[in-house]
Amino acid sequence: MNTRRRISLVIPFYNEELNVDNTLAAIARVVDPQRYDWELVAINDGSRDATLAKLQAASPSNFELIVVDLSRNFGKEAALSAGLSQASGDAIIPLDADLQDPPEMIAAMLEKWEQGFEVVLARRADRSSDGFLKRQSAAGFYRVMNRLSEVKIPDNVGDFRLMDRCVVEVVSSLPENRRFMKGLFAWAGFRTTSIDYARPEREFGETKFSGWKLWNLAVEGITSFSIAPLKIWTYIGVFVALMSFGYGSFIILRTAIQGVDVPGYASLLTVVLFMSGLQLIGLGVIGEYLGRVYLESKRRPPFVIRSVQQRGGKAAE
Ligand code: UDP
Ligand code: MG
Repeated sequence: MNTRRRISLVIPFYNEELNVDNTLAAIARVVDPQRYDWELVAINDGSRDATLAKLQAASPSNFELIVVDLSRNFGKEAALSAGLSQASGDAIIPLDADLQDPPEMIAAMLEKWEQGFEVVLARRADRSSDGFLKRQSAAGFYRVMNRLSEVKIPDNVGDFRLMDRCVVEVVSSLPENRRFMKGLFAWAGFRTTSIDYARPEREFGETKFSGWKLWNLAVEGITSFSIAPLKIWTYIGVFVALMSFGYGSFIILRTAIQGVDVPGYASLLTVVLFMSGLQLIGLGVIGEYLGRVYLESKRRPPFVIRSVQQRGGKAAE
């Protein structure tokens, strides 16, 4: 009988030709075929460089390589979802392709898993490789996010974590097509622990997440997990209405006592501009949510797989 357990590593690759060989070699160094069966699910997220060719040329000996080729670039969240859908392990670990999630941590994660934890988070205890601005904006995001959302997203934790099969089943079964994975993982819950690591610099190539992309990811995260930005307009409205009522009463009284005074252009214009600005912001927030409802209602799949190829490892049937 076969009671050996299988571990899946899931790595999205987008224009990472410089990292493919290195990353596969680093994985080969940490997998331990004595204890577990290993598979690496590599997702090619519509790379325009030689990433796919390099992945297909690789022939690892101590793990099975499953190359999932997406039909175009769907973004990291979708690529990760695609990888999870193809992973068959009893424990599943998503990693970045640039070795910023050190594979050396995997052994420690597995140990925690063997102790009975269903989720083992790898926490970036040291983010000095990330730059001041990125660290500050990340800290700000988690503060706002965790204030607004009922689902608490652990801070300084990326997608690098070990998840038991049962957690991945839950996340994969969620029907939504706009997938903020960190949020979905946190939403799923389960017995969770964490281990700390220092996040190293990117090995080769450059980051795919510019300031604008990160901002959009942050908006995605907040709108996916909280409707507080929608609800706040009721309170802002009530507050402004009360203020105007007070000020209106004051002006009526003053006019009744002192008579009409015509000047007041500047204050009038200020109030009009302020109020229209406020209304536009409110509309914008509604628009953010409405847009998401619209996109979600189309029920398009989050990713399209062109092909799945398997190679290497002992487990080939
Ligand atoms: N990635 C992807 N699709 C994208 C952008 C990024 O699959 O559209 C992958 C990328 O190849 C890498 C991971 O997501 O494996 C993290 O990207 P990156 O290292 O650029 O992010 P950072 O570490 O700077 O946050
Ligand atoms: Mg990176």
